[in-house]
Amino acid sequence: MEKVNVLIIGAGVIGLAIAAKISQLFDDVLLVDKNVSFGEETSSRNSEVIHAGIYYPKNSLKAKLCVRGKKMLYQYCHERHIPVNKIGKLLVAQGAEEEAFLKKIQISARSNGVDDLTWIDQETLKHLEPKLQATAALHSPSTGIIDSHAYMQSLLAQAEQDNAMFVAQTKMVNASPTKDGFKVILECQGELLTIKCKYLINCAGLHSESVAHTIEGLKKSYIPKLHWCRGHYFSYQGKSPFKQLIYPVPRDNGLGIHASLDMGGQLKFGPDTQYIEQLDYDFPEKLKEKFIKQVSEYFPTLTPDKLQPAYAGIRPKLQAADGPFKDFVIQTSEIHQLKGLINLFGIDSPGLTSSLAIAEYVAEKLKVD
Ligand SMILES: Cc1cc2nc3c(=O)[nH]c(=O)nc-3n(C[C@H](O)[C@H](O)[C@H](O)COP(=O)(O)OP(=O)(O)OC[C@H]3O[C@@H](n4cnc5c(N)ncnc54)[C@H](O)[C@@H]3O)c2cc1C
Repeated sequence: MEKVNVLIIGAGVIGLAIAAKISQLFDDVLLVDKNVSFGEETSSRNSEVIHAGIYYPKNSLKAKLCVRGKKMLYQYCHERHIPVNKIGKLLVAQGAEEEAFLKKIQISARSNGVDDLTWIDQETLKHLEPKLQATAALHSPSTGIIDSHAYMQSLLAQAEQDNAMFVAQTKMVNASPTKDGFKVILECQGELLTIKCKYLINCAGLHSESVAHTIEGLKKSYIPKLHWCRGHYFSYQGKSPFKQLIYPVPRDNGLGIHASLDMGGQLKFGPDTQYIEQLDYDFPEKLKEKFIKQVSEYFPTLTPDKLQPAYAGIRPKLQAADGPFKDFVIQTSEIHQLKGLINLFGIDSPGLTSSLAIAEYVAEKLKVD
């Protein structure tokens, strides 16, 4: 039977970042993904925004890992020439009530260590972004955009350089604890293989809950319910009317339908939030009306014909549709008592931004497990 030290389930940005980090510390790291390549699910269906860490409650993992991850990510991209742009973001208010909300956000952001937000009044906004309609805004200079595919490619190259191995089209179907780790059954192109590992890391994104249910000995009470929440994007043809990212105040369990640019300069609007029961990337026709209505609030001269359905991504949320804020859950044996197992649940936004800090956090936990 094959034996490895660390087996990582899921080669999204989180599994790749963990593989890149862990392979510097451990020999025999194996990363598997059920798809034909890495990063084919949530990690390639997002806004590609490097978040500042503004919204999350003080001391939450999301706040801490986002702020640390942002710093690490800019440095990583800089050192490895990965396309990135600290383009900045305007968080815009429409009226006194939303302005009061932004003031509160500015204070809570400060408690997360984000102390570079500045208040922009309506007059200044008109000069900065003439096409934008808002009564005031908060400017976040440390928000940026990244080529997430180039980033993931680089993480894989780094992991492989440190002798980690990536195997695609390989799905974990079951794991059972042994006296010094786990016996794991993998399905590789129709064939079942058994492999032993000392450490098992479940970072299977949308499937992390179902993967956890296949781990024998893991009490069901430790497996949280994931809610799938789809978000759609429309691209906007032609030259972007904005120089930076434009976000309305957060709503509907998301950050609001915002305007973001990719590294090629393409403007897109999205994502909205739609909780779903089945995993599919459908793009309902009627969505355009909703987008026109919400985007027009801050971009009144929007030309509807320039909006084209682009893509959808699905968030693995622990937060239910009408539920309170839920943090990332990174579960070790301190919690579930299964030595050598780390489960990552609910790695929705800002998972991309936090990826290097999450990997660092997981590596610290592994060292003591
Ligand atoms: C609409 C949207 C917008 C977002 N915008 C941003 C943003 O702007 N900035 C930001 O920081 N974050 C953003 N996020 C969050 C970010 O995209 C995620 O946090 C991140 O991509 C999660 O990565 P992951 O590796 O956990 O999951 P995934 O990328 O989904 O990877 C999990 C992998 O596990 C594999 N897998 C599943 N089951 C098995 C199995 N049994 N065996 C083997 N492999 C398996 C899957 O094939 C998949 O490749 C956004 C998310 C969405 C949906």
